[in-house]
Amino acid sequence: MKFHVMTLFPEMITSYTGESILKRAQEKQSIEVICYNIRDYSLDKHKKVDDYPFGGGEGMVMSVQPIYDCYQAIVSDIPDGETYHTIYLSPRGKTFHQKKAQKMLQWDHLILLCGHYEGIDERAIDFLKAEEISIGDYILTGGELPAMVLIDTVSRMIDGVLSSKDSYEKESFYDSLLEHPQYTRPREFLGEEVPEVLLSGNHQKIEQWRREQSLKKTCEVRPDLLEKAELSQKEKDLIEQWREDDAASEKLEE
Ligand code: SAM
Repeated sequence: MKFHVMTLFPEMITSYTGESILKRAQEKQSIEVICYNIRDYSLDKHKKVDDYPFGGGEGMVMSVQPIYDCYQAIVSDIPDGETYHTIYLSPRGKTFHQKKAQKMLQWDHLILLCGHYEGIDERAIDFLKAEEISIGDYILTGGELPAMVLIDTVSRMIDGVLSSKDSYEKESFYDSLLEHPQYTRPREFLGEEVPEVLLSGNHQKIEQWRREQSLKKTCEVRPDLLEKAELSQKEKDLIEQWREDDAASEKLEE
């Protein structure tokens, strides 16, 4: 997978993707992250990339011309037969989540446009036929952090980036549940012991415990996720029982 990042601040991206797992993934050529400085494509003699908004209002808006030319340069270099998809990181987009990241694995190239200032000229989104994607209901100063969130999330699911598929298939959200608690050495810290079952060596019991903990955490923190999860009748009954117990203890507290 090749990620092409259109940004005014390429070093923000390379400082992150040049470390740790993403760095190794690039060395192994499992992924490639290429940054394009939108400013390099400005036809303005001062390399201006923004202007005042028509109709008035606060701040500056990124101009369509440098974005359009930068995009054309990227697309014209993509070999025939290879697929690509364009994304504008934007608070107005649909919210990003794990399943969406999974769907992105179908593309050979992802072209990511990072906005800045008050955003970008709407015509750029139209010309690029970009899908708008938000990483949450809050406003950041630029699209670079959201682009890095997307690159990181998608990359972890590409063959060869992590040591095994288990590394991401057993994590939160993959099967619509939050992950069970994790422990490592020492077995005891300030009087707190690791749950006995994890030391038992009984893999079936450990899996059962982890699944139950995962259900419990999801039920407490993100009950909305349970609607999409595949649950056995026994698990549904268990959740119902926890809910009844919670309701009963809330009543007692009143
Ligand atoms: N005026 C815009 C609005 O109200 O929707 C916000 C512009 S924001 C200050 C500047 C840039 O940051 C946006 O163009 C976008 O690329 C990026 N950005 C900010 N928050 C974001 C979010 N939650 N998800 C994705 N991108 C975001």
